[in-house]
Amino acid sequence: MPEMPADTPAARLSAVRDRVAAAAREAGRDPAAVTLVAVSKTFDADHIRPVLEAGQRVFGENRVQEAKAKWPGLKADFANVELHLIGPLQSNKAREAVELFDVIHTVDRPKIAHTLAAEMARVGRRPRLFVEVNTGEEPQKAGALPREAAELVRLARDELGLPVVGLMCIPPVDEEPALHFALLAKLAKELGIAELSMGMSADYETAVNLGATCVRVGSAIFGHRG
Ligand SMILES: *Cc1c(COP(=O)(O)O)cnc(C)c1O
Repeated sequence: MPEMPADTPAARLSAVRDRVAAAAREAGRDPAAVTLVAVSKTFDADHIRPVLEAGQRVFGENRVQEAKAKWPGLKADFANVELHLIGPLQSNKAREAVELFDVIHTVDRPKIAHTLAAEMARVGRRPRLFVEVNTGEEPQKAGALPREAAELVRLARDELGLPVVGLMCIPPVDEEPALHFALLAKLAKELGIAELSMGMSADYETAVNLGATCVRVGSAIFGHRG
C-alpha cells in the first residue's frame, strides 16, 4: 500500500504551518511573526532530510552531543539552517553550544549566564538567548521561578550584555497551558522582552493565540518518538 500523503513528514509540516498561520490570523497577528521550530530530537539525519527538502530551515534539538553528531553533515547539504537548543544546558557544554547553535532557549540560572558570556567572548559567536521560566514552579523542572525571572534577565541582558531576546516556558503536563502562556507573556511585557518561545505539538495554536513568536513542534511533524 502506498503511504498516505498526510502521513509523510513533509505533509505534516505543511499542515502545521497552515495551522500556525491560521491561528496567527485569527489572533490578529502577522503569521510571519511566528517562527516554527521543527523539533528533530531523537530523529536521525535520514528522517530530518525530507523536512529540509520540504523547505524547513529552523530546527530544535535538546542535546548538544546529539546535535553535534547529526547537524554538521546536514548543514553541509542544506544552506541557511538555523539551530535552536531547547534542552537543558550544562556549563561544561556551553562552549560547544555557542559554537553550534544560533538560538539557546534554556538560560535558566545565573551561573549559565556567566558561562555563556565567557564562551561567547572566547568563541566569537553570539547566539540569541531565551530565559527559561518555570511558570508552574515545578521542583523537578529547569527554569527561573517567575519571581526570579526579572533578576536573571537583569543579570544576563543588562549586566553581562547578552543578546536576550525572549522568555521560554514548558507548562506542567496536567495544567491548562493557556494560563502559563499568559503568565509568560505578562512577564515578558513587564521586562520589555519581545519574543516568547512557547507551544508544542499539543498546544501550539493556543500559544500563537497568546503571543508566541517561536513554537517548538516535534511529534506533530516527525511522528512519535521511539
Ligand atoms: C521535545 C520538546 C518539544 C517538542 O515536543 P512535541 O510535543 O513533540 O511537539 C518542545 N519543547 C521542548 C523543550 C522539548 O523538549
